[in-house]
Amino acid sequence: SKELGRNTYNFFTMQMNQDMNRRLQVEEQLRSALQRQELEVYFQPLVDIRDRKTIGAEALLRWDNVKLGKVTPDEFIPIAEQTGLIVPIGRFVMEQAFTAAAQWQKNYQNNFRIAINVSPKQFRDSAFIEVLTQLLQEHQLASHCVELEITEGVLLSGDPVIAQTLSELNNIGVSISMDDFGTGYSSLSYLRSYPFDTVKVDKSFINDITVDPGDLELVGAAIAMGHGLNLNVIAEGVETEEQYQLLNALKCNYGQGYLFSRPVPLEEFEQILQREHQT
Ligand code: C2E
Ligand code: CA
Ligand code: CA
Ligand code: CA
Repeated sequence: SKELGRNTYNFFTMQMNQDMNRRLQVEEQLRSALQRQELEVYFQPLVDIRDRKTIGAEALLRWDNVKLGKVTPDEFIPIAEQTGLIVPIGRFVMEQAFTAAAQWQKNYQNNFRIAINVSPKQFRDSAFIEVLTQLLQEHQLASHCVELEITEGVLLSGDPVIAQTLSELNNIGVSISMDDFGTGYSSLSYLRSYPFDTVKVDKSFINDITVDPGDLELVGAAIAMGHGLNLNVIAEGVETEEQYQLLNALKCNYGQGYLFSRPVPLEEFEQILQREHQT
């Protein structure tokens, strides 16, 4: 009926207004989040599947805003990306993560690895390599200990500048990791065309490996393919002992997930390293 149609229309416009409003609020607050020191880098252990020892960490952003409270990266990263705010924010993440990693290399393991997420706009920023190189130098961090995680979104544009940047990064010696492997359409051709060092099998595949034979088969194939191409393979989202045992049997190199630890603040991560290194 006409009445129902109008209500549906009103409902959708109200919903759209609400979403738009929230987006604008997040954007407005995000603009001053760095100055207000509301952003914090958390660390999640990256473990060797064979002995479960921590060999590195992925840096993951957290935001606790004065007005909106905790906002998840899945909500604010895309907005940071669209507004270009990801460039200064991404620099902040590298600064924090490199400072911590340099310290951990000195105190615990000289080859400790630090993984950083890099989004498309950040990757395409003309100063990206310069800033990265400068930060590596400033923190006396060996380039081979840094892993840049990129998703298909970075490569999608087909812009020749991307290929150029990837090969420059490869020359500098930083590792390039394909994040969310298996979720996009073109992962395979990208692996063939660009100098990747690592693939991170998406957690949506790991989730059901103990109950879905098809998923187990796919993960096994992804690991075998990675090894065939001389890449390290990381499994994301390892939550149970059973998943861990399967990944170990499949000779997956590294794992990351709640089974080992959630992403934690710097001090807490340090305690993990301390515990593992006391004899
Ligand atoms: P991602 O790069 O795929 O990161 C992995 C996500 O999985 C993280 O979510 C992590 O907390 C979560 N995770 C880890 N282990 C488990 C597990 O066992 N089970 C489940 N269910 N989840 C697990 P988070 O921290 O909420 O980040 C979401 C996304 O936001 C990231 O996905 C990444 O794309 C983006 N992001 C986070 N920090 C940054 C950053 O500093 N820069 C950029 N550009 N993106 C970031
Ligand atoms: Ca990642
Ligand atoms: Ca390389
Ligand atoms: Ca992922």
